[in-house]
Amino acid sequence: MQSLSLKKKELVEMLNIVEEACEEYGISPFVGTPIPPCLDGLRDYKFLLKEGCMAGKGLHCAIDPSGGLKVCNHSPTVLGNCIESDPKELYETSEYVRGFKELRYTPKMCEGCSKLEKCKGGCREAAHVLFGDIKAPDPVFCL
Ligand code: SF4
Ligand code: SF4
Repeated sequence: MQSLSLKKKELVEMLNIVEEACEEYGISPFVGTPIPPCLDGLRDYKFLLKEGCMAGKGLHCAIDPSGGLKVCNHSPTVLGNCIESDPKELYETSEYVRGFKELRYTPKMCEGCSKLEKCKGGCREAAHVLFGDIKAPDPVFCL
């Protein structure tokens, strides 16, 4: 799967192009999967990367075609089935969701970082899917 990923240089170039387009056209797009602000080569964006990881904040979730409730679209973990159970209750009583709120999936490299609360160590679920370990560093560091 990683062979399909952008190289780090390409990722930074792409963000710079989008940032310039935002400036020119006065738009503020939402980058759905936040990129860790400590990644080499990123600048202080005026429009992009303002949001951190939303998992566990109670503001969004994902539902798969079978009714499986997930913390977000990247997550491989099904919290329960929305057709059989109340999704709000599934979400609010989930130990897995609580793990995001309590920053229990923090990679070692992020311990003590001042941006951890918002960034959560980058995309935890991308690390979970690609490396099979929710506490692995964000895959963007391997590009
Ligand atoms: S929390 Fe981790 S990934 Fe995010 S900025 Fe800090 S060190 Fe980088
Ligand atoms: S785990 Fe990744 S995809 Fe899921 S909400 Fe956080 S940043 Fe977005």
